[in-house]
Amino acid sequence: MQRRISLFGATGTIGDNTLDLVDRHPDRFRIDVLTAQQNCDKLIALMQKHKPQVVVIGDDAGRQKIAAAMPDFSGDILVGEAGLLEAAQLSVDVAVMAIVGFAGLAPALTCAEQGGILALANKEALVAAGPLLMQRAHRHGTTILPVDSEHNAIYQLLGAQAGHDIDKMVLTASGGPFRDWSIGDMAKATPAQAVAHPNWTMGAKISVDSATLMNKGLELIEARHLFNIAPAKLDVLVHKQSIVHGLVYFNDGSVLAQKGSPDMRIPLAYCMAYPERIATGVSPLDLAAIGRLDFEAADRTRFPCLALAEAAMQSGGGAPIALNAANEVAVAAFLDGRLGFGAISALVAAVMDGLDATAPDDLAAILDIDRAARRSAQSYLEKAG
Ligand code: NAD
Ligand code: MG
Repeated sequence: MQRRISLFGATGTIGDNTLDLVDRHPDRFRIDVLTAQQNCDKLIALMQKHKPQVVVIGDDAGRQKIAAAMPDFSGDILVGEAGLLEAAQLSVDVAVMAIVGFAGLAPALTCAEQGGILALANKEALVAAGPLLMQRAHRHGTTILPVDSEHNAIYQLLGAQAGHDIDKMVLTASGGPFRDWSIGDMAKATPAQAVAHPNWTMGAKISVDSATLMNKGLELIEARHLFNIAPAKLDVLVHKQSIVHGLVYFNDGSVLAQKGSPDMRIPLAYCMAYPERIATGVSPLDLAAIGRLDFEAADRTRFPCLALAEAAMQSGGGAPIALNAANEVAVAAFLDGRLGFGAISALVAAVMDGLDATAPDDLAAILDIDRAARRSAQSYLEKAG
């Protein structure tokens, strides 16, 4: 039996890796849903190849362009957030959620109500709404499997449930392109330098997050909810080769670690074929050729975004929502050339300082905190500019 796959964010780098696995295993996987925000040409090419039943595009102009290019398409061409929510209600075996940013939250929540597997790449959904998303999946019998490589590593080591015998979970960080840079050099870093990640090929937003180490901070919050583990038991370790992805320390001194080449097809394949394992096309890990694995503590002075995210994780409540929203605004402004690299953390810190956010108890409250933080971030940008 083929597994039916819906792929949200099909035109991104996680989308590319997912479709590479679908191509390798046509007997196992069939694409039912593809979504994209803007890139109509790429979506049309993917429709011709994969013949989905439903596609979603960001706006009506996109819908018209697709309809004109694909006159024989008999499926549905849906538009915008309402289209994403409709597509997320289709019954599939595996929903791959690879939309970037807070925009993935509402579709992820809807996917979590459908049962089956939710292969979650979008970490921002868990950062902003971890308890809500985990409860919803639990209530509807949906299995959330983490695509994020570090969390996928820990899931492979443990399953979903963190036990009492666990002392610590550690996420590794490559350190990004500026691992050894001074604060002064980083302040002048350009978007092109920031997105040139040494080990992984990723979308622009997560690449900048990797350069600030905000990505690792978001991942700590992600792990806190995925594994229901206390913040004090979570830590980060800089490991420049990105071969070890996650470690679990047990109370008897034993430490388990998962290793693999830095290739997102490994965690994606784990989620898509779960509980089986399938070939990914990734070359075997040659540890003799790699020769050595280096580890060092993370530097929170040069990378203040990591400390900001840890503080938001400790505070809980609305703090992670505001952190995520402020960071999305700051990263977009940096990529547009409106904010310096060093000012990303300053903007996030300013928004967090002005925060008066009580713990949200539903999606409406989460959306309110997100909007307020974005407004505060915009006014910071206006004052700074
Ligand atoms: P990307 O920028 O390459 O692709 C993003 C996708 O989301 C595109 O298909 C785009 O059309 C869609 N999209 C963007 N804005 C949207 C919106 N407002 N509404 C609907 N769709 C929208 O990003 P990526 O690198 O593929 O990352 C996707 C997600 O996976 C992110 O949350 C990222 O943190 C996470 N992730 C990525 C990697 C990686 O290696 N790329 C690793 C771990 C986690
Ligand atoms: Mg990761």
